[in-house]
Amino acid sequence: MAKVEERVKMAKITISTKDAVRCSKKGCSYRGPLDRHHLRHELMFVKVFAWRSDRLYRKLVKRYEEFRAEDIRYLCRGHHGEIHEIYDDIITTDQATAGKRVMGYNWRQARKLMARLRKAYFAWVRVKTKQSNPTSDRLPREGEKARLIQ
Ligand SMILES: [Zn+2]
Ligand SMILES: [Zn+2]
Repeated sequence: MAKVEERVKMAKITISTKDAVRCSKKGCSYRGPLDRHHLRHELMFVKVFAWRSDRLYRKLVKRYEEFRAEDIRYLCRGHHGEIHEIYDDIITTDQATAGKRVMGYNWRQARKLMARLRKAYFAWVRVKTKQSNPTSDRLPREGEKARLIQ
């Protein structure tokens, strides 16, 4: 009986656009307010591609603002910081390989990097890792248009 109730509760979480009740990271025992995390770090692309005004850019902005359930996961602040540290490393490596900043990427390069970030999230989320400093100021505030990691 309890199991059924849990399932119903989880189903609600996946369709809810409001904050979920628990962090997606495996083994996390944190209970409290959660951050909304975009799997492909859409906010960064929205910001660095702001100079673009093409159809694909408008599509990206629209998609970001929709906060679709499939694009988002909920994380505690510490784990949100941890995944963004991983994202930072991936972005740095990707830029070094491309020989340019993300800002100068074409759409094909951008999509490849987005896919790489998303994949890294799924590899990370299912294993237990240390929680990073919850007060990390490297964290972007998603859903709010504030500071950003570039
Ligand atoms: Zn995030
Ligand atoms: Zn957590």
